[in-house]
Amino acid sequence: MLIALALACKPDLLIADEPTTALDATLQREVLQLIATLVREDGMALLLVSHDLGLMSENVQRTMVMYGGTVVDSGPTASVFRRLAHPYTRGLFAARPRIGLPRGTRLPTIPGRVPELVDLPAGCPFADRCDRVTDACRAAPPPPVPVAGDDDHVARCIHLEAAA
Ligand code: SF4
Repeated sequence: MLIALALACKPDLLIADEPTTALDATLQREVLQLIATLVREDGMALLLVSHDLGLMSENVQRTMVMYGGTVVDSGPTASVFRRLAHPYTRGLFAARPRIGLPRGTRLPTIPGRVPELVDLPAGCPFADRCDRVTDACRAAPPPPVPVAGDDDHVARCIHLEAAA
């Protein structure tokens, strides 16, 4: 209903924040097809916010992965999903449920907790949870670093080569 109301105004930009949460798979597919059709036919831009990696991979051209209030990985969706450049992106993918896993398989988790936005560490916001952390990571927030081989893809990590 809310989606229909938003679309009735024919906006230039639709911000869809977890638009299919709590919908069953069939309804989820129908809602996404409707949005995709309107984006295509009306030239509407779509900003999709989701924790569902499958949803993102099929519906957006560019992906930004956020952690601790910062975009830590950003680029064309195919590149972000293929390279898994940032350690947090890598952890998210490792933790996703997948068809075919043996029953009872425990999914990997990222140890530790997300920092409070009002109490972020001085350096990399992911430092307390990262298995590649060094002293340099804690010295200053990492700048965006180009991901080798992918124009237009950057990740905020000073040890990208270690993650390759
Ligand atoms: S900058 Fe350091 S702590 Fe931050 S993600 Fe990269 S390796 Fe991990």
